[in-house]
Parts: sequence; C-alpha cells; structure tokens
Amino acid sequence: MRSITWYVADRRERGICLDCLDEDVSVGRDHYLRREWAHVETAVCRKHRCMLQDWCDHCFARDRFRFECIEEEARLICGHCSTAVSGGRKKVEGTATVDFLLLLTAAVDAAIEGRESSVALDEIKVAIETLWSPSQANGKPFIAWFDLKLPLGRLPAFAARGNPLVCLSFPWRIVTFMAVAQLLDLAQARRWLGPPPSYLERELANRKRNSLPQDAETPHSVGILETAPKLRLRPDIEYHQLAEQILASQDWKAISAVKGSLRDRKLGRLMNQALRSERGRSDVPRPTGP
Ligand SMILES: [Zn+2]
Ligand SMILES: [Zn+2]
Repeated sequence: MRSITWYVADRRERGICLDCLDEDVSVGRDHYLRREWAHVETAVCRKHRCMLQDWCDHCFARDRFRFECIEEEARLICGHCSTAVSGGRKKVEGTATVDFLLLLTAAVDAAIEGRESSVALDEIKVAIETLWSPSQANGKPFIAWFDLKLPLGRLPAFAARGNPLVCLSFPWRIVTFMAVAQLLDLAQARRWLGPPPSYLERELANRKRNSLPQDAETPHSVGILETAPKLRLRPDIEYHQLAEQILASQDWKAISAVKGSLRDRKLGRLMNQALRSERGRSDVPRPTGP
C-alpha cells in the first residue's frame, strides 16, 4: 500500500505520455491521467517505452497542462499555447536507458509497496536525504557533484527536513533516483554508471547509523563507534600532490574554461578519479605515524 508521500503532490510536476493520450483519442474516449504518472519514481511509460514528458511540444512551456472540453471530449491542453496534447514524438532515449529506468522504477515501486525481496524503503529514504543534504565543499547538495546529466537551470534548494522529492521537478526526481540507484546499486546501476564517489558512501553510512532504527538501549555506544568505517585520512602532502597533479593535467586545462555546475561536476570527476587511482596504493599496509 503506497502512502500519500510517494505521490507527486503538484499535478504540474507529473510527466505524461503522449502516446497514451493519443490512444485515448483513437478509441474515442476522454484523455485521462494514468495513476502511475503520479508515482514519484515513474520516468518512462511502460507500455510505449518512452520517457514521460513535462513540457509542451509546441511552445516548450513546462508543467502547464490542464484539461479543457473540446468537441465534448476532455482533452489535456497546454495552458500556455492552448494546443491539445497529441502526437507521440520521436523517441530520444536509447533502449538501454529505457530498460534501466524501467528496472529502477520497478525496484523503487517494490520498496514503496513493501513487496518481498525488495530493498528496504528506509535505505532509499536515507540515500535521498544524503544526496540532498549540503556538502561541506560549498554548501551545494551532494547530488550536484554526481557524474550524471543534471537538469539545466538553478539547482533546487536542499530540503532540510522531510522528503525532498515532494518539491522536486520531474527531471530532478529522475536524476535523484539514478543517483540513489548508483549509491545502493539498484537495478545493477553500477554496472554502467560505475561506483559512486567513496566520500558519498561514507556519508550514507554515517547517516544510516544515525537515522535507521537501532537498539534503543545502545545510543551511540562504544560498539557502534567501533563498527564505524574508519576515515583514512592521508598526510596533507599527499592531498597537495594530488591537487598539483590535477592542476597540471590536460583534463584540467580542458575544463578550466567551462563555467558553472558543469565545471563543478567535471572537477568532481577528476577528484574522484585521482582519489580512486591512489586508493590502490594507500591500501598497501604501511608504517603508521608521521
Ligand atoms: Zn504510454
Ligand atoms: Zn504550449
């Protein structure tokens, strides 16, 4: 049973499938909104295997669809240019992306509905909270550092409390679930997105310890502290060397002209690559101390 918090509250932020609506017309019935389109995790129409759409094909206005009666039939129209929604469009997403999003949607749906053998819904909640909490780097939410195709425009403000999905637009919800998939390895996400940044896995582990239900009698006891993954910091000189390597690299020269969030993401990717390629070395046992 799905609770109300896993439905998109604002109808304007729900995606629609033009092919489904065209089918309504072809069989002579009113346009109607499918229930699945209101689920927070729905990105793709299962029947037509296309991405849902939250903008008008004619004027590109976003989230402005409304119903109107045209020749005695209910039709969804664009509130901006008043064109009735129709015309299944050219599919732009590759089949691999569609397959992945369908698998992911099914996995999240199973968790929300509490079906057996699904990932725990609490895990998904904590992952979403982690992604939308401010990072120490510059206060931007962690998701801004992900190596995913992020929606254009301003980054939504992070939600301090409650489910951030409630106030996210359709494109941001999709990106959030893709990042969750990478963090929790849902729908075999890591196979083609690669592993998530290691600092984010640590952040997730910290949050899990604090927010998932624990034994009420052992609040932050020694036992819990001992099982915490140790943050293995390295000497400052190593970070300094890594930074110098990045600054001297061709990759950095190529992105130093880029601005805004794209640059942040590319820089994040360089930092992750550097830390990951160093990780192999630092796993070798070595004498402790200065
Ligand atoms: Zn459809
Ligand atoms: Zn329009």
